[in-house]
Amino acid sequence: GLHLPERVRTLAATQPHALSIVDGERSLDAASFDALTTRLADALTRVAAPGDHIGAALETGLPGAALFVASAKAGMIFTPLNWRLPAHELAAVAVDAEVTVFVADPAHTAVADAVRTALPDATVLLAGDELDAFTASGTLCDPGFGADPDAPLLQLYTSGTTGRPKGVVITHRNLHNDADGFAVYHWRPDSVALDAMPLFHIAGAGWMSSCVSAGIPLVLLPRFDARAVAETVERHRISHMFLVPSTIQMLIEDPASREHDLSSLRVVAYGSAPITTTLLTRAIEALGCGFLQRYGMTETAGSVTALRVEDHDPSGPHAALLTSAGTPMPGVEISIRDTATGETLAAGETGEIVCRSRNNTRSYWRRPDATAELYTDDGFLRTGDAGHLDDSGYLFVTDRIKDMIISGGENVYPVEVESALAEHPAVAEVAVVGVADIVWGEAVTAVVRVRAGSVVPSEAELIAFAAERVASFKKPRRVVFVDEMPRGATGKLLKRTLREQLSDSLA
Ligand code: ATP
Ligand code: MG
Repeated sequence: GLHLPERVRTLAATQPHALSIVDGERSLDAASFDALTTRLADALTRVAAPGDHIGAALETGLPGAALFVASAKAGMIFTPLNWRLPAHELAAVAVDAEVTVFVADPAHTAVADAVRTALPDATVLLAGDELDAFTASGTLCDPGFGADPDAPLLQLYTSGTTGRPKGVVITHRNLHNDADGFAVYHWRPDSVALDAMPLFHIAGAGWMSSCVSAGIPLVLLPRFDARAVAETVERHRISHMFLVPSTIQMLIEDPASREHDLSSLRVVAYGSAPITTTLLTRAIEALGCGFLQRYGMTETAGSVTALRVEDHDPSGPHAALLTSAGTPMPGVEISIRDTATGETLAAGETGEIVCRSRNNTRSYWRRPDATAELYTDDGFLRTGDAGHLDDSGYLFVTDRIKDMIISGGENVYPVEVESALAEHPAVAEVAVVGVADIVWGEAVTAVVRVRAGSVVPSEAELIAFAAERVASFKKPRRVVFVDEMPRGATGKLLKRTLREQLSDSLA
């Protein structure tokens, strides 16, 4: 099997000197990473039991990678939490997950203190000397877990884009990537991957698990920073990395991406939020490497579909595919359902995207209400996203159902209007939301950040620009200019925050 802890053990046995993890100046080969995680796993068994949650407020780095694999070897559930949350909020999530062990970066000491107060029986450690001493107290006797495919190994909270984050229980089987699943990455013997995504998000944890499972050396950066990413790509000859649309934009807008040699890049995987064709085309041009889109969610433990590298060709005959999220990953069935009747829809018809596969979680953590709503009667997971399949089985994600605007009785999916406005040369970023309106019910409202150095276009100009590209009822009624968009910890635009801000300011 290719399950995470087994792969770490196997790689250490077969290629002990292969480079495994790089964090700053520290490099670990496969044998050292295996030994480190075995000691930590053994130490964990002294203070926690199989099935326990091992919490963390760790930025992306060796301590997080080690705790992830060690928890799996000890049959425990790695539960990385959003270290950007205020200490008391983060402690509340740690209480929800009932963590018995909690590890925080020294930069997040306040969080460690809050968890200690909230959970007096938990073992709370700071990464660095404390965690190193704890690890050293373990022996090289591997607790030997990680072979049961249905045991949970990870609990991640959803991004909280549409409401309160929900804990998602993820098993080895859910996270399992077989050879077919790996094929989309085009790994080569000399591949080196970069992970600068947060571990508490499926993009960070799933990417880490994929790379480690595939035996690809993984370079870790604590968080996304355009300059640090550009420097790291050059220094470590990075071939693969995962970014989200907002970080792709930051990278290509930053002069560092032109000052450094990024020619080692072969595949930039991206996903987790819609990308405009304008940004995607610019990124392909700027970075000149392959791109791979993933569509999925925390509940599907990674991607449901992929728009493969071969399908990213802005100048080819299939350029329209750039607006697609691609075709199903191996073992995934996609179906489109009528949002009102639940009926299966034909190709070309838009409805809710549902999927069935072994990657899907069985349940949320302690949210029986949400778990009950997650599945259809025939066992498909409801994504909450609207979309359609074309005749060749390519999936097109329209938007989140919850973000749909009903304006003058017509349905408007913001992403379509955003893509149209993104084509305007002065527009750097745009978000479209519905704002309560007496005439329209909801008025289509565009929020725009103007490109640095561009002349600010007038509201009327942008409305006219959109009207040339989308149906008249979809064009914005208002345009609001901002310097910054509200974003969640993983860079997702928070439309519920934007809607609140707008209804306050336009009221
Ligand atoms: P919450 O469920 O708490 O509201 P969230 O849905 O943002 O937050 P995640 O599980 O991180 O939490 O994100 C999954 C969602 O991200 C999907 O349902 C979809 O709306 C969006 N998404 C992911 N990948 C893509 C993609 N390639 N294109 C468009 N949207 C995407
Ligand atoms: Mg969601």
